[in-house]
Amino acid sequence: MKDSCACPKCVELCEKWPCNPSSDEIRRLLDAGHSKDMMLDYFQMKSDSKPVFLLTFAVKGRRKGYAPFYTGPCTFLKKKKCVIHAERPLIARMSFGCLPANKNLEKLHARHLRSWRTRKAQAMVAEWAKEYGLELDKRLIRKPESVWDLFVEAVYA
Ligand code: SF4
Repeated sequence: MKDSCACPKCVELCEKWPCNPSSDEIRRLLDAGHSKDMMLDYFQMKSDSKPVFLLTFAVKGRRKGYAPFYTGPCTFLKKKKCVIHAERPLIARMSFGCLPANKNLEKLHARHLRSWRTRKAQAMVAEWAKEYGLELDKRLIRKPESVWDLFVEAVYA
């Protein structure tokens, strides 16, 4: 089974939105010096539930900042290539624009969502946000929904 592809449909995915890694994968990339390449985002299990904050690969122009209202191209996409190809997260090795989505992918999305719902992951997000002067609660005013909400819907609906 292939684990990488650079066909136009796959590049289109990276141009549409960045990968959604698990908290452990983000930890690994922070430790590898990619802290400034992240952005702050969140999801909610229900519209009235407490937000779960997370770090994810920044959309271009949003490094060290808040996720935009609408999503956009991944900051790691340069000249139509993933510049962290060797370090890219598992989700990038499993999801392809040129192949249909599958159940394993859904399970992975669910696992990643769960990975952010821990004290350890939330402490990591808080520490990162503090470093870049971002406030966790302001996000709710800036952006009422995120691409992660779509994953919640897809995985738990
Ligand atoms: S990390 Fe690489 S594979 Fe994932 S969205 Fe960004 S450019 Fe694409």
